[in-house]
Amino acid sequence: MVALAARWRDSGSMPYLPSLTILALSLASPQDEPQGSAGKNPQLDARESFLVSQIDAQRAGKHLRELTQEPHIAGSEADYRSALYVQGVLEEAGFEVELSEYHVLLSLPESISLAMTAPEKRSLNLSEQPSSLDEDSSDAGASPGFNAYSASAEVESEVVYAHYGQPEDFDWLASQGVDVAGKICLIRYGKIFRGLKVHNAEARGAAGVLLYSDPDDDGYRKGSTWPEGPWRPRSGLQRGSILYLSHLAGDPLTPGRPAHVDAERMQREDCSWLPQIPCIPISWGTAEPILAGMRGKNVPQNWQGGCPTTYFTGPGPSRVKMAVKMQEEIKPIWNVIGRLRSESSSERFVMVGNHRDAWVHGAIDPNSGSAVSLEAMRALGALVKSGWQPPYEIRYGSWDGEEFGLIGSTEWCEDHASEIQANCLAYFNCDAAVSGDRFAASATPDLVRMLAEAAARTEAHDGKGRLLTRWAHGGSRPPVGNLGSGSDYTAFLCHLGVPCLDFGSRGGHGVYHSLFDSAYTMEQYIDPGYRVHASMARFLAILTYRFANSEELPLDIAAWGPWLHSALESLRDLQDRDRELLLAGIAAFAAASEKGPSAAQALSLHAAFLHPEGIASRPWFRNLLVAPGLDLGYGAVTLPGLREAIESEDLRAIEHERDRLLAALARATELLR
Ligand SMILES: [Zn+2]
Repeated sequence: MVALAARWRDSGSMPYLPSLTILALSLASPQDEPQGSAGKNPQLDARESFLVSQIDAQRAGKHLRELTQEPHIAGSEADYRSALYVQGVLEEAGFEVELSEYHVLLSLPESISLAMTAPEKRSLNLSEQPSSLDEDSSDAGASPGFNAYSASAEVESEVVYAHYGQPEDFDWLASQGVDVAGKICLIRYGKIFRGLKVHNAEARGAAGVLLYSDPDDDGYRKGSTWPEGPWRPRSGLQRGSILYLSHLAGDPLTPGRPAHVDAERMQREDCSWLPQIPCIPISWGTAEPILAGMRGKNVPQNWQGGCPTTYFTGPGPSRVKMAVKMQEEIKPIWNVIGRLRSESSSERFVMVGNHRDAWVHGAIDPNSGSAVSLEAMRALGALVKSGWQPPYEIRYGSWDGEEFGLIGSTEWCEDHASEIQANCLAYFNCDAAVSGDRFAASATPDLVRMLAEAAARTEAHDGKGRLLTRWAHGGSRPPVGNLGSGSDYTAFLCHLGVPCLDFGSRGGHGVYHSLFDSAYTMEQYIDPGYRVHASMARFLAILTYRFANSEELPLDIAAWGPWLHSALESLRDLQDRDRELLLAGIAAFAAASEKGPSAAQALSLHAAFLHPEGIASRPWFRNLLVAPGLDLGYGAVTLPGLREAIESEDLRAIEHERDRLLAALARATELLR
């Protein structure tokens, strides 16, 4: 998944982690060597040097080529073949491997058509135009453009242009007297998770939604378009799931339970997280005649996009007829789970994961992540073969069904919840690990120090300095975001409370979820020579090694105190009395967390901030400290239960949420004493 623009957008409630201020001190140790004005580069120990020597850019490229050679959407035979490939690589690296199968609701297109019925009659193109420069683009197995879990329906109506489909966009339309009830909303991709655009339209009575990629956001207005560049061409469209991801992750029919073959399942019509209206993704080339045929109110300046026509709100006179027939079916998906351990490894483990399923070939999303992870796991396996005995086991999950709604990782977490809560020390995620050369990461505060230490030890892709220096733009304080949702850490973090981080090397492109996210694009425009892949693999191998090799648990529990402080500060409308009570709770917790925790304490701490009833608006999300924003989908909000209660101005709910947080803080403080 991973939509960068949305992911990194500041929601106004994402305090950058205050613990960053201590990084400058903790990274400068006596054996450091000075380098340039940027600061100091720590020496690698012998095992870290061995890991680095094992990483090979060309082999990462070979993994990527293997995994992208055919379209491999979740549940397909090609997806199963890709699972076997990953299994083979891990076994050769010395992992014990098993396939973990779940039976989940997938949604595939049976037939989709779109026609304009006014002001002129014409059929509209829904397919992406291949090029002879990239043989993968004419692959017969590629799926057409569709949005998974769209309702099946045939509707015809006038069109309303609803900008990004955010609540405030619909509010503005309403303020202008433009009613979307019964209309088809034309909404551009970007800013918030696509499923929420459909949710917002459905909540206001819309009959259907067309999601299009505006050239201002990722097309020719950004640069050369595919195949001459990485930006979205005229026919390029963005597939994607419209499951309401900030309400539920995982198999839609088995919330909170593993989707085994004989699991008890809900009826589709009882699932409020599935859309009730049809939705089709279209290219700007297809949206253009619809936009050109519209009149109505003038739009605000920032609503005007990059199609060469003046945008109006409608409704109409453009009318379209959309016919969507989806095939919803319970199908098997396959995670690949690998375990690397020695005789002296404890039951406790650190887990690395990324997804493997793709909408089409998926070179950037997700197989840059698979290539990086496999190369890092191979290096760690070689280190164990050479005699290293990791105190903690290293696990790797190659997740399936992520694109449909983080399904494979979520089902696995629900299936292994008690084992994860008892023994999983941390989870490291990557998804689209390479889409450019700018390193970025998000994490829970207790992992920020670890993250920066590994980045300080990793050479950048061009061999000129360390990753940390680039990431921190020459300083020593890198920007670390909060985790919300949008990739496979969600169940670990939001359902089970495990410390998590997510990383990747980012850059701009317009092939996201299209036919054009292929090995050709990767090698021509994103990472020729796979040097960024190699750098990310070095980073992941060093990070995982350092975590699994630590005698003292490398979780910086003390970082939670300042984090909680600034999270509380961002709740501007909190009453003074509530604020004082919570500040006292945080102060007690911070005092107790000054000395490092034992592994047992750190593990119990995961559970301390979970509440079995979850957040009021969405019980599957049980972590009281962080969740995806209800209106954002990917972006994080801190203290979500209390924040939503304050927004609703419901005094009882505010009191209830305040008390739940106070009780959690008291539990956590008690644990650390
Ligand atoms: Zn992805």
